[in-house]
This record gives sequence, structure tokens and C-alpha cells, in this order.
Amino acid sequence: MFTIDKYVVAESLDQAYELNQNRRNVIIGGMLWLKMGRKKIGTAIDLSNLNLNTIEEDDDSFKIGAMCTLRDVENHLGLNSYFNNLLSKSVEHIVGVQMRNLATIGGSIYSRFGFSDILTALLSLDSYVELHKGGIVPLKKFVDMPYDNDILVRIIIKKDGRSSCYKSHRMSSSDFPVLACAVSNKGNEWYASVGARPGKAVLKQFTLSEKPSNEEIDKVAQDITKLMTFGTNMRGSTRYRRLLADVLIKRNIEEIIGGNHAD
Ligand SMILES: Cc1cc2nc3c(=O)[nH]c(=O)nc-3n(C[C@H](O)[C@H](O)[C@H](O)COP(=O)(O)OP(=O)(O)OC[C@H]3O[C@@H](n4cnc5c(N)ncnc54)[C@H](O)[C@@H]3O)c2cc1C
Repeated sequence: MFTIDKYVVAESLDQAYELNQNRRNVIIGGMLWLKMGRKKIGTAIDLSNLNLNTIEEDDDSFKIGAMCTLRDVENHLGLNSYFNNLLSKSVEHIVGVQMRNLATIGGSIYSRFGFSDILTALLSLDSYVELHKGGIVPLKKFVDMPYDNDILVRIIIKKDGRSSCYKSHRMSSSDFPVLACAVSNKGNEWYASVGARPGKAVLKQFTLSEKPSNEEIDKVAQDITKLMTFGTNMRGSTRYRRLLADVLIKRNIEEIIGGNHAD
């Protein structure tokens, strides 16, 4: 159980940022992860009055406010149709609807959990985080940045026309993933993002010919997984995860090319 001494609904991002510089204070999203801990919180800083609960779409990008819930992302028609349901597929097994109605995208991406489905999916797109002080940072850089006291304001996803596909493997449908995998493709650039290794998602770029053979796809999946490290925990061994990554990368590629094979 955690305790909170004081609760403040921030009136501005500057005020929230100032409060967040004290190590006892925390920004609260849906509080689902925070409540699993035993932190003695000085001031809980609530961002819910700062209009960060909308998903905006323009010609170039989608902008998802930090207080949008995973359910908002899952149900957004524009995101689903542009990215072929990538994001809704990535969150659909996260516990249940009630939970996804509370968990925020800000809390999820700021936390950079190793098991994160949504981080794995977003990493395969041209995504950025907007930080209040740190400005706009590519997600692939943010993943490896140290945790600090900045505030994640928005997620930005560029509309660059890439196709994408997401798959995870779980012991049971609402458990944490044993392995998470997203693949995306734009022209002859391909990207594979693999999470729950069990470490944080990593991104690898690769190429494929226009009509790849099964052999070429097998080879590329093997080459990518060789570049990644996997680990063992209660959900799976290093060897099992490597095998899963190989299979899920291939299945995602297959789904994107949709039968456009050389053989
Ligand atoms: C039981 C359980 C099962 C789960 N299963 C899965 C799963 O299978 N797959 C998966 O991907 N995820 C899973 N999750 C994680 C979940 O989807 C959320 O990512 C998680 O709860 C964090 O979101 P939140 O809004 O609750 O954040 P909170 O708990 O409110 O905050 C988490 C952290 O982020 C910080 N924070 C919050 N918002 C911001 C912000 N805007 N800027 C800076 N810092 C911020 C907080 O200070 C805190 O340190 C699970 C969580 C739980 C509790």
C-alpha cells in the first residue's frame, strides 16, 4: 500500500514540473502501477485538469495526450485505421477493459516497463515523446534515457505511411506477455521491435527484397534475434524467448506482405 500526504490538481505544466522536482512528490496517471508499491508520497500531482486527455490528428501526425487511457488509444478510429489496428492489438490483452479505462499512456510510456506491450508497438512506428522540459525526443532514444523528474506531456506518432503488425505470446490471455513483437515496413525499410525479452523493447532495422522468399524471411528473423539479448524469468527461458521472437517476427512479416512471396 502507498500513502499520500497531499494531493494537488496542477493548474499548469510549469506548476506540476516544479512540484515534481521534490523527490517525495510524484506525477499520478491512472495510479494502477503506483498502487502496487509502498511509496510514501509527499504530494501526488494530478495532471487531469490540463487537457491532456485528447488524441489529435492532423496531416502529419497523431498526438496522444499523456492522460489518455489505453482504452482511448484502443478505440480511436483514426489510429486504428491508419496503423492497421497495431495499437489496439497491442493493448487488447492488458488485463481487462476496466483496467485499460484507467491506465494512462503517460504512465505506461514514462515507466518504460520491460513487459510493456504499448512501448513495443510504439517503438516500431516513427514515434516521439514530448517532455515538458526535455522537448521532443525520439522514442527509441527515450527508452534508454535515465528516469528523471520531467513530465511526459504527449506521444507523437508521425503518419509516414508505414504498414505494421503486432503479436504477443502469453501463458493466458490477460497475463503479462512472455514475448511482445511489432514489425513495421515502409518501402524497403523494415523494423522489428521486440519487448518482454524480459528487458525493455529494442528496435532493429532490416531490409527484405520486394517479394521475399520463405528462406529470406527465415534468415532475416534469425539474424535479428541473434542481435538481441533475451533472459530467463518465471514466464520463460532465454532459449524459449529467442524461439518465440523468431516465430513472431516471421508471422508479423508474413502478415504485412500478405502472401506477396517469391515462392
Ligand atoms: C496488474 C497489472 C497488470 C499489467 N499488465 C500489463 C500487461 O500485460 N502489458 C502491459 O503493457 N502493461 C501492463 N500493465 C501496466 C499498465 O498497462 C500501465 O502501463 C501501468 O499501470 C502504468 O500506467 P498508470 O497510468 O497506472 O501509471 P501510474 O501508476 O499512475 O504511474 C506510473 C509511473 O509513471 C509516472 N508517471 C505517470 N504519468 C506520468 C507523466 N505524464 N509524466 C511523467 N511521469 C508520469 C508516475 O509518477 C509513476 O512513477 C499492468 C499493470 C498492472 C497494475
